[in-house]
Amino acid sequence: MKIENVLIVDPLIGEFTGDIITEGKTICDIIPHDCNYERIVMPGFADVHTHAFEKIDTMNASKEDFEKWSKKNFEHGVTSLIPTTVSASKEDILKVIENIKFCGTPIEGLHLEGPFINPEKKGAQNPDYIRNPSVDEIVEITPDFVRLITMAPERPNFYEALKYLQKKNIKVSIGHSGAGYDMMEKAYLNGADRITHFPNALNQLHHRDISGTGSAMLLDFNVELICDGIHSSKEFIKLTYKIKGSDRIILITDSMEAAGLNDGKYSLGGLDVYVEKGVARLKSGNIAGSTLLFDKGVKNFYEFTGCSLKDLSKVSSYNALKDLNIENKGRIKIGYNANFVVLDKEINVQETIFEGKTVYKK
Ligand code: FE
Repeated sequence: MKIENVLIVDPLIGEFTGDIITEGKTICDIIPHDCNYERIVMPGFADVHTHAFEKIDTMNASKEDFEKWSKKNFEHGVTSLIPTTVSASKEDILKVIENIKFCGTPIEGLHLEGPFINPEKKGAQNPDYIRNPSVDEIVEITPDFVRLITMAPERPNFYEALKYLQKKNIKVSIGHSGAGYDMMEKAYLNGADRITHFPNALNQLHHRDISGTGSAMLLDFNVELICDGIHSSKEFIKLTYKIKGSDRIILITDSMEAAGLNDGKYSLGGLDVYVEKGVARLKSGNIAGSTLLFDKGVKNFYEFTGCSLKDLSKVSSYNALKDLNIENKGRIKIGYNANFVVLDKEINVQETIFEGKTVYKK
């Protein structure tokens, strides 16, 4: 495949015009040259925290559902997808693993959000299933397919669990946590250097204890951001970008089953969720996941922050993939996977190319 006369955006090299040539699933040549362009080519997007999409929910999706979900996500430029669980019984988590483990790319693995979190910071997680970690249970629910687990460092046995997970190359992300600065610093220094849907379900910044929110800003944590203007305001996104820079931000959707559908009554982890004007909430008023589509989040980030396209390609794919040690994806470089999103100058998805083939065209 030859993609001609485009603006190529690589997260490390930056922007230049030219052509990209692919062979099979791989980028085999890049030819820079001066040209006028209408289309922008970036590495395909990566969504590493998404619970559900158009009524397909990680917790009860079949292998076919996961495949349908991946295909539908091509419309939104996503070429790497990590479905995400909610706090559930061990049996239910094992069932998800059974259904997903034979799915190939674009599914890159599974993200376990909970159940080893702080019930006081539960957000929309079902408190009936929140519990203390034990290494025995973690061994059972983290086969190789699990890439990422969101945990609260204040839970007993956290460090034992962390050590085991690090040995297995499974990333621990801090989330749904009431930790203060000292605890956040200790977790960071021990290698838990990532934060789930920052700053949602963390303690707010206070000048006598900067807590989870302030720690994420002060220390070099990588932070997930839901860029819908609801979970964080436009100004908070701008502030985060100003403080963290483009290397530490990972855009995610945290989407629930109403993503891509209309307002109405839905569910998340066995709890009823009411979606009104695109905002998903429990009866209690707690926000319950998002209805954000990945490409909309990317466009929002570009508009909210005024960032460069190079920075946009970092936050929309490169950072997320690098953080999880997923190799050969997230760059436009010879030898890398030919996964691209083709955008117009207003950052609307025009085409998605996955493993060297067009899988979506507007
Ligand atoms: Fe959450």
